[in-house]
Amino acid sequence: MKRLPNDCFSNIEDMLAVDEARAEITKNILQITDTEIVNLEDASGRILAEDMYALFPVPPADNSAVDGYAFWHADYENQNDRKFEVAGRSAAGKPYSGSLTEGQCVKIFTGAPMPDRCDSIAMIEDISEFDGKVEMPRGLTQSVNRRFAGEDIKAGSLVLNKGTSLRPQEIGHLACIGKLEIPVFKKIRIALLSTGDELENPGDALPFGSIYDSNRYMLSALLRKYGCIVKDFGIVPDTYGTLRDTLVKAAKESDLVITSGGVSMGDEDHVKSAIEATGSLHFWRIAIKPGRPLALGQIKGTAFVGLPGNPVAAMVCAMQFVRPIIARLSGDQLYTPPIPMFGAANFSMKKKTGRREWLRGRYSLDENGAGKIEKYHSTGSGLISSLVWSNGLIELDEKTSIIDEGDKLRFLPYSELFE
Ligand code: AMP
Ligand code: MG
Repeated sequence: MKRLPNDCFSNIEDMLAVDEARAEITKNILQITDTEIVNLEDASGRILAEDMYALFPVPPADNSAVDGYAFWHADYENQNDRKFEVAGRSAAGKPYSGSLTEGQCVKIFTGAPMPDRCDSIAMIEDISEFDGKVEMPRGLTQSVNRRFAGEDIKAGSLVLNKGTSLRPQEIGHLACIGKLEIPVFKKIRIALLSTGDELENPGDALPFGSIYDSNRYMLSALLRKYGCIVKDFGIVPDTYGTLRDTLVKAAKESDLVITSGGVSMGDEDHVKSAIEATGSLHFWRIAIKPGRPLALGQIKGTAFVGLPGNPVAAMVCAMQFVRPIIARLSGDQLYTPPIPMFGAANFSMKKKTGRREWLRGRYSLDENGAGKIEKYHSTGSGLISSLVWSNGLIELDEKTSIIDEGDKLRFLPYSELFE
């Protein structure tokens, strides 16, 4: 199935703010519609393809929230000595099946169904049983320590919406309504390749003038964190024909093609012409640093993103722009960009206004337990060591022009950016 019915990235000429670029992405990318059924234990991280309803209430029956003695509150109010006879026992999974008369109670355990003619529970800690009798403490209100049928989930209610990304708690939610077979959207397939005559694979020899391909390994790890299937198309040399043929093949076998490098305007940058021969390519100028113009396009209806070659720029653009594309393609309808944490800068700097910048930062707590943010000593977008040193990105908004020590800064932890 082809994902892009028209030349959807074409009408962007002005400089875009980050939020505008993200909004355009959301507007133009269509989600894949192929679904499959997976078992509940394999559903973590998948995107729900149908609304889920509860067919019965949860909990299914009134039950006890504590270990104690279940009784009828009207009896308790009528009796001066608050003494009850223990008529039986109700444990979780082993309910009491008898019926009670006035002045009787049942020893009950957490999660056990409420016995007949009981509406309240006194806690075991407050009572001593002697000779088959208990004396209830004073001041118990009606329904104390009782959990009601349906107080968590009502019968017939919508439990989870189509488009929900399933976290451990949603898996638990589906389990408690008894679902085993879960309809989810198929994982999206991403064809990933690196361009550059200088690139070699780790494990191979490194001739003079070469470097190891780090982007493909780094991006593949990131994309798999995002729940995608990554198809590795290797390193493609800076040769027009090879690049074109590989891109066509990649597009045929995937929902999204991602390249890194080769999208500047140098003599050796053939991605543009190779894509234009088979699809279309547009360079969006987004007001950001790091990042060159972001190349977006399509090859025979399959979405294409050309990331910068410099590892830091490639990684930042992937987290900021590829992530929402993946969310959109995968049907993750509740995706929102990460919510920042805040902390105080331990540095000062100047910044150009009118663009958003992401610096490699490290968030920690100072001696008073307040959030503190440091930045990497250099901003070079080729420095992979800055990504390793940091635990997230400092986000400086478009309006900021100067940062003084102690200013409150936005911080996006990798734990959020990798979600
Ligand atoms: P390019 O965008 O192709 O001009 O590349 C910009 C810079 O990033 C150059 O220094 C490249 O050598 C480097 N680069 C490109 N691709 C990769 C890669 N896959 N891994 C590491 N560095 C790369
Ligand atoms: Mg290159």
